[in-house]
Amino acid sequence: MKKTITFLLALIFSGQFSYCLAAMAPPKKPKNIILMVGDGMGLVHLYAAYVANGGKLDIYAYAQSIGLSITKSADHLITDSAAGATAFATGKKTNNGMVSVAPDSTKLPTIAEQACAAGKSTGIVVSCELPHATPAAFYAHQPSRRMYPQIVRDMSQSCANVMIGGGFPYFDTTLLGKNGFQVSVGMDEMRGNNSNKQVCFYNADSVPQRFTQGRGDALREGSMHAIDILSKNKNGFFLMIEGSQIDWGGHDNDSAYVIEEAVDFDRTAGAVLQWALNDKNTLVIITADHECGGLTLTDFDSLSNRPYMNFSTGDHTAEPVPVYAFGPGAAVFSGVYENTEIYVKMKTLFKLK
Ligand SMILES: [Zn+2]
Repeated sequence: MKKTITFLLALIFSGQFSYCLAAMAPPKKPKNIILMVGDGMGLVHLYAAYVANGGKLDIYAYAQSIGLSITKSADHLITDSAAGATAFATGKKTNNGMVSVAPDSTKLPTIAEQACAAGKSTGIVVSCELPHATPAAFYAHQPSRRMYPQIVRDMSQSCANVMIGGGFPYFDTTLLGKNGFQVSVGMDEMRGNNSNKQVCFYNADSVPQRFTQGRGDALREGSMHAIDILSKNKNGFFLMIEGSQIDWGGHDNDSAYVIEEAVDFDRTAGAVLQWALNDKNTLVIITADHECGGLTLTDFDSLSNRPYMNFSTGDHTAEPVPVYAFGPGAAVFSGVYENTEIYVKMKTLFKLK
């Protein structure tokens, strides 16, 4: 007994006791969770953006906890975006190409649907077409990512409060209206849309433009618009934001494309993180579904801040991807784990059934 007391006193006076208590304390539960996915964004994609941006990134500045996510799918060491997003959305590994269904095509409930059922608001904001694999996995359930008509029907009948992105020609605005969505096309219309259930298309085209070729500030502005709408719910919200075209730059082996999209994603993350810092009840998780391009940074032009980059493939790789977390519950995202654990951790923090 005397020995125990002496040991405890030694701990208290060494400052280790409070550290031990903090380590044992359960994580604080966030009211809101924002999951940000840089599609195809490996460690080097973001570091190249850091170098090109003059040694500054908001994601690096804000991150409180960093982990590594193992991205393999149920049937392949190298995942595609459909199986990758299904892992985040449902906590289950599926085959490449499948959208929130198990390998036997059984429908899997998603974190967005479970958050809706718990009375939270939910939404997605992306820089690709809304029925593309990553956004689709949060509200659609189909055996193939190519089944756009079926995916669009699922999304049009979903519980989502806000969906912002491209893909206007795929949607039937009458069906959206029948399911309670107020539709806006173009950024001006989006700014005036205060409905609690809305779909906003950046324009009437199918695929959103590249950042430097006309899309401009749409991802950041769309994300902040979604937060404005979703944060009106006293029960909290879940939002998924995707920087979709980092992956497309990787597939094209186009280093300028990768950098501009990664910088845009970081600017978007900066605005989101600043909002979360003020809110104090929001967990922000920033990660990727997989790496794309097998990217390495081999040299640097100090006059132009231009990194020299080599791609080893035009496709995805098996490289684990970083997970950066900020806000209440961020500590549980440190470590090395399967991509499905991101769902498990979000579900536990949200206390969802
Ligand atoms: Zn890809």
